[in-house]
Amino acid sequence: MTNQTNRAAWLQGPSAECTPKVRKHDPAWRLVLLGAPGVGKGTQAELLHERLGACHLSTGDVFRAAASRTDCMPSPAMAKALAVMRRGALVPDATVWEMVRERVGCLRCGGGFLLDGFPRTLTQAESLTELLEKEKLPLNAAINYELPVAEIVSRLSGRRTCCKCKAVFHVTNHPPKHEGICDHCNSAVFRREDDREESIKVRLEAYQASTRPLIEYYRRQGILVSVPATGSPEEICDRTLVALQLQAEYSAAG
Ligand code: AMP
Repeated sequence: MTNQTNRAAWLQGPSAECTPKVRKHDPAWRLVLLGAPGVGKGTQAELLHERLGACHLSTGDVFRAAASRTDCMPSPAMAKALAVMRRGALVPDATVWEMVRERVGCLRCGGGFLLDGFPRTLTQAESLTELLEKEKLPLNAAINYELPVAEIVSRLSGRRTCCKCKAVFHVTNHPPKHEGICDHCNSAVFRREDDREESIKVRLEAYQASTRPLIEYYRRQGILVSVPATGSPEEICDRTLVALQLQAEYSAAG
């Protein structure tokens, strides 16, 4: 979809190598993207990757990549995680943390990172803070994308995703030019299992109960940046960059 690397080390694990290799950036941006499912974090991560160079690291993408692998059986923990994911519930913290810790090289990478879908609970956020402090890799900001619930439900239930390049469409607001076919790579466009009504309800409840408290967690750390997620993806991205600039000036002023 973009000039993103194939993120092999993130999607397949540390024994895989990213091609092309991620370039070092100065400064390397290290951001956490917060917001309810369907708010557009994945789309923003792609756009921010183009503008800031940092790599888009989505934990949901790691689970989906594991689910689509046909060359090996998933481990028992991963098989359980995939069943949980299909229901729209949260994968246990221990499983998610093991997966992230295994990929710590992606957090150390000189290209920086955009964490999308992680952390999702206070336990995960505390583990991440501890790890990043130990590694001396401070976060620049936690960006919270804000959108009313009714709009979120409409976005999720109409969302369609390309099975290959992961481009995102919407049945009414942004349909592909040819029904069911991706505009970018001509692959099939499908409805994610967890974008069905029953799963959407479970995902939004999980967000309210477990992930919303992270807004306060990062506000207390002084790195929360709130961005309204209305308008076109480009408008939201521009708004994000302005907000990040203000946050950087605020931090520099001490
Ligand atoms: P996403 O693509 O971020 O919406 O993630 C899809 C699904 O993967 C979620 O509904 C969860 O089942 C699972 N998942 C992804 N990231 C996490 C996480 N950090 N903690 C728990 N479950 C997660």
